[in-house]
Amino acid sequence: MQYRRLGNAGIKVSVLSYGSWLTFGSQQAVEQSVECMGAAYDAGVNFFDNAEVYAGGQAETVMGDALKELGWPRHTYLVSTKYFWGIHRDVPNAYFTLNRKYLMEAIDKSLERLQMDYVDLVYCHRSDPETPIEETVWAMSDIVASGRALYWGTSEWSAADIRAAWEIAERHHLRKPVVEQPEYNLFNRTKVEEEFSRLYEDIGLGLTTWSPLASGLLTGKYLNGIPEGSRAENVEWLREVLTDQDANAKVQDLQGIADEIGCSTAQLAVAWTASNPNVSSVILGASRVDQLQENLKALAVMEELTEERKARVDEIFA
Ligand code: NDP
Repeated sequence: MQYRRLGNAGIKVSVLSYGSWLTFGSQQAVEQSVECMGAAYDAGVNFFDNAEVYAGGQAETVMGDALKELGWPRHTYLVSTKYFWGIHRDVPNAYFTLNRKYLMEAIDKSLERLQMDYVDLVYCHRSDPETPIEETVWAMSDIVASGRALYWGTSEWSAADIRAAWEIAERHHLRKPVVEQPEYNLFNRTKVEEEFSRLYEDIGLGLTTWSPLASGLLTGKYLNGIPEGSRAENVEWLREVLTDQDANAKVQDLQGIADEIGCSTAQLAVAWTASNPNVSSVILGASRVDQLQENLKALAVMEELTEERKARVDEIFA
């Protein structure tokens, strides 16, 4: 495994990490999560991603139970969570928000579900146009200052909002955001490669990127329809994207380069994402341990990604 600094922060994350969206607490109970987290940890993964909203809090509960069973020393791994959508939709102030009250209460509930004293990373899962950025920055900084999280960051924020948050923290000597969590894969490149380009040097932004396989599309599993038990079968709003003919034709072309290297398209797609030096960690998703084991082998494929092959990949996905 390779370990990269989270931007300018001192902490190092494994270049491949493992997340729990749509799997922990839904496709997977504790037993399968233990198996997958164990396989990841054995391969050197030190970062496990979560969010309050995943399976309505159940993903945190399952990860907490799995970690208890696995019994790893706390200093050997990092856990994250994220806030914005909320899980109590019956009252104002507790959902679709980054207000101080919500954030302060949400972190305590996450820690209970995860059975932890602190999380390593805490993210604002989206930006909230109604709460002043200053209020959110103070709250996130206070969460870090209280020891309930060690670092904070954002997810799917604009470059302008990230810079605004950083500057507020700088002005008031608060804890600064150190990481952003954007989608990054062969179909979605603009934020990471263009919009954020000045932030890496200017503020030392780290990236933990999501959906390296575009929800499974880049595995080639949707070339001949929807396989049983797959994400496209389970998640209706993703079905159209995953079965899009043009997108699948590109994946088929990618298969040619994967065959030449002797790897799967999934491994090639993950290796391509990890080969961007601004990416600190690529968060893998997997509903089964065999998928995860396949994807973790992408590290070896990075060495086969020559400039010439990258240029051919670019041509396919231009
Ligand atoms: P991917 O794009 O890698 O998709 C993962 C899914 O693809 C798996 O659950 C599985 O779905 C399928 N798959 C993966 N590997 C294989 C394989 N080798 N062969 C066949 N099918 C495979 O990642 P995710 O979309 O899951 O995102 C990864 C993580 O990123 C999440 O768990 C979460 O932690 C984070 N995330 C963060 C977001 C944010 O807003 N900050 C948003 C989304 C994700 P199946 O078997 O069901 O078809």
